[in-house]
Amino acid sequence: MREFELIRDGGQPWDVVVVGGGTAGLSGALNLARVRRSVLVIDNGEPRNAPAAGAHGLLGREGISPLELLRLGREEVASYGGRVVSGQVAGISQDDVGFWVVTEGGQRVRTRRVLVTTGLVDALPDVPGLAERWGRDVLHCVYCHGWEVQDKLIGVLGNFHQALLFRQMSKDVTLFLHTGTTLTDEQWEQLAALGVSVVDGAAAGLEVNGQDRLTGVRLASGKVVPVQELVVAPRFLARAGFLRDLGVTMQEHPMGLGEQLRVDASGFTGVPGVWAAGNVSDVLAGVPVAAAAGTTAAAAIHMDLLKADAEAAARGAKGGGVFSGAMEAEVSRRVLGSRAHGLDPLPDTN
Ligand SMILES: Cc1cc2nc3c(=O)[nH]c(=O)nc-3n(C[C@H](O)[C@H](O)[C@H](O)COP(=O)(O)OP(=O)(O)OC[C@H]3O[C@@H](n4cnc5c(N)ncnc54)[C@H](O)[C@@H]3O)c2cc1C
Repeated sequence: MREFELIRDGGQPWDVVVVGGGTAGLSGALNLARVRRSVLVIDNGEPRNAPAAGAHGLLGREGISPLELLRLGREEVASYGGRVVSGQVAGISQDDVGFWVVTEGGQRVRTRRVLVTTGLVDALPDVPGLAERWGRDVLHCVYCHGWEVQDKLIGVLGNFHQALLFRQMSKDVTLFLHTGTTLTDEQWEQLAALGVSVVDGAAAGLEVNGQDRLTGVRLASGKVVPVQELVVAPRFLARAGFLRDLGVTMQEHPMGLGEQLRVDASGFTGVPGVWAAGNVSDVLAGVPVAAAAGTTAAAAIHMDLLKADAEAAARGAKGGGVFSGAMEAEVSRRVLGSRAHGLDPLPDTN
């Protein structure tokens, strides 16, 4: 994608600027473009699942490369007249007319509504060498990777529930208590009954072979426990810092998994004109769920614009519009003052 001119043809504001061009953003943009909304997607090209080889659980496109899916999505948006451009949005401000969306590069764009679909950051456990392997043999999601790692030696770092999830995929599961994990008596019993090994002590590093494949977890004691895959529980942090001036609300995920934007079922943030969808407002959303949320938000935005346009049209028809008598009188008052209608003011008789 080339550098872009943010102004819409004719200098009018965009109906909708979508911030973030992942699954949620492109799905929203596609639906908006198809109902003849002018829509601009600004995306800085770092979708969360980029390190993964395939996007799984996606009916009809099972296992497609995440980047190929988005390439197709951009093409589809463009085919209906939507515009997708590269850029990083740094801030959004609001005035009487609508919103100014400002990029890191200092470009500004006017829009009537905003759809925020910037996803989240996975805050990974602080174990040396772990982040480099994220999405390859360091994993978090059984629905995304479980099938691919079945029957392997699977390590789980400090999370009882993930140990259960991955025990479904392999009988060789080891739970590393790592730092700060405590288990109830009931959990110990369940792990023992399911044949899950439990290893005490902090993980200090990862062992990798010459083919760049994970072979083990090194404990602080120096002992190495063999694993081929390591499952971790990142903290999910919505990418929403650039919305600080808008008054949106963040909330802790109900299961304590991270922070997300607070929205209603349509994706409305509570700030008039601003919707959100995908991982930024639902940290557990997979690709199909993010797509559905983008679609839902697009419908809500379209309805909001329809209402605003219908109300403005009715005001115009009643005589409150741009060319109404009332508006002309107001323009005359402001421009001509007492010389309205071409008459000079009466001479001061005092
Ligand atoms: C390793 C891994 C594997 C996964 N595998 C699967 C799987 O197999 N199946 C599945 O259903 N789900 C999977 N997921 C989950 C999947 O990644 C998410 O469901 C999906 O990415 C959510 O889409 P989104 O549009 O909300 O966010 P994203 O896909 O992250 O898209 C957000 C976009 O916004 C852009 N952006 C962020 N901030 C800004 C800004 N300020 N200005 C402009 N652009 C910005 C980003 O660069 C990005 O392009 C996986 C996740 C991970 C981490």
